Amino acid sequence: MIENSQRLHLEKSFKKGKIPFAIDKGKYKRFSDRDTIFGRVVWDDSYIAHMRPITERAPNKVGKKGYSRIGYAAQEASWTIYDHFSGAFNWNSVGGDSDKKVLPTQLFNILPKFEASDIKTTTELVKRVGQIFGACKVGITELDPDLPFIFTHNRRNEPLDFPEEVKYAIVMLIEMDYQALKTSPTLPASITTGNGYSRMAFAIACMAEMLRKLGYRAIPAGNDTGLSVPLAVKAGLGQFGRNGLLITPKYGQRVRICKVFTDLPLLPDKPVDFGVTQFCRICKKCAKSCPSQSISYETDPTWESPWDTISNNNGTYKWYANVDTCYDYWVKNSADCSNCIRVCPFTKPPGISHEVARFFIKHFRFLDRMWVWMDDLMAKFPWWRYGKKEDPEKFWRSKKYLGKKT
Ligand code: SF4
Ligand code: SF4
Repeated sequence: MIENSQRLHLEKSFKKGKIPFAIDKGKYKRFSDRDTIFGRVVWDDSYIAHMRPITERAPNKVGKKGYSRIGYAAQEASWTIYDHFSGAFNWNSVGGDSDKKVLPTQLFNILPKFEASDIKTTTELVKRVGQIFGACKVGITELDPDLPFIFTHNRRNEPLDFPEEVKYAIVMLIEMDYQALKTSPTLPASITTGNGYSRMAFAIACMAEMLRKLGYRAIPAGNDTGLSVPLAVKAGLGQFGRNGLLITPKYGQRVRICKVFTDLPLLPDKPVDFGVTQFCRICKKCAKSCPSQSISYETDPTWESPWDTISNNNGTYKWYANVDTCYDYWVKNSADCSNCIRVCPFTKPPGISHEVARFFIKHFRFLDRMWVWMDDLMAKFPWWRYGKKEDPEKFWRSKKYLGKKT
């Protein structure tokens, strides 16, 4: 553990937005994917939701508002590409098969390996390709030599032998539908989540394949291989929120994160600060709206988790979420949950009023309380209903989804 004075210095710098995260290098240890909640559901028989899929209680729920039979079918179907093609596209298997070319290529036989003489231009082009493959935003980060955000083991408890020469992560964000998310915790919100994962799969599979066709190594990853949120923060895509998720300047928390690790030399982005940490200290809306009370109400972050769970990794100055009770709620709900994403004041579609709010949150932090109050006020207006749960029936009937303009 580092000295108290060093911790204090890190805390101050983090709260002022001078550093993207504060890590006690004496305490923090690399994490195993097996100890994440989705890993533990499979092996940890002491966990209350051990081997319990979130749709376990669907027979009791089906027919209730927001939990239709079609909704359940669409929710499960939305994961199809992510769940069923991971083997084909070689992720979840770092260092081994993940470098294998998936598709036969004639191109590499007739063209030489791409030499990135102009790294800046190459980086811009890679980002553009990422957008064509479905990312709403792409950032680059260079991996630290001690790989703090790369998992030690996969979910099968096999050590990850991460290749030394793979030094960069292309981090891609996939936007989720705002209207669907507003119905959380009912099924339309779950459908846009699964849809986000399947589109992640498309983006990383295509990006990895392109890198291989240029003659470089590529390791595509969804939630596996490395911690997505800190990698996205390092890649300049956003900041940590109180609920442990990424908050981006444009989409708030309305994104899924995927990444492709590569040895193609790229220009890393710099972390951004747009006032999230200070705002989260005051806001606490996600904590108040969490049905399982899994989010901390503490004003300041802490170095250790206040929750009794091995799925939290101590040694980072942040707000820890109780993922055990969170997932348990998903099982009880018979669908996943995005309430904390829905209520977050940053999770709004683009628009002039939000641009103004974001400008003030970034530059005039003494007004944060007023913006939280404004967000609460807007929640009361029937035509805005900021952060309020939307009626799922209204969502299904929305003309937007029938190809007509609302
Ligand atoms: S996903 Fe739902 S249950 Fe989990 S922390 Fe967020 S609000 Fe709470
Ligand atoms: S709801 Fe408020 S406290 Fe929670 S992550 Fe969003 S801004 Fe931070």
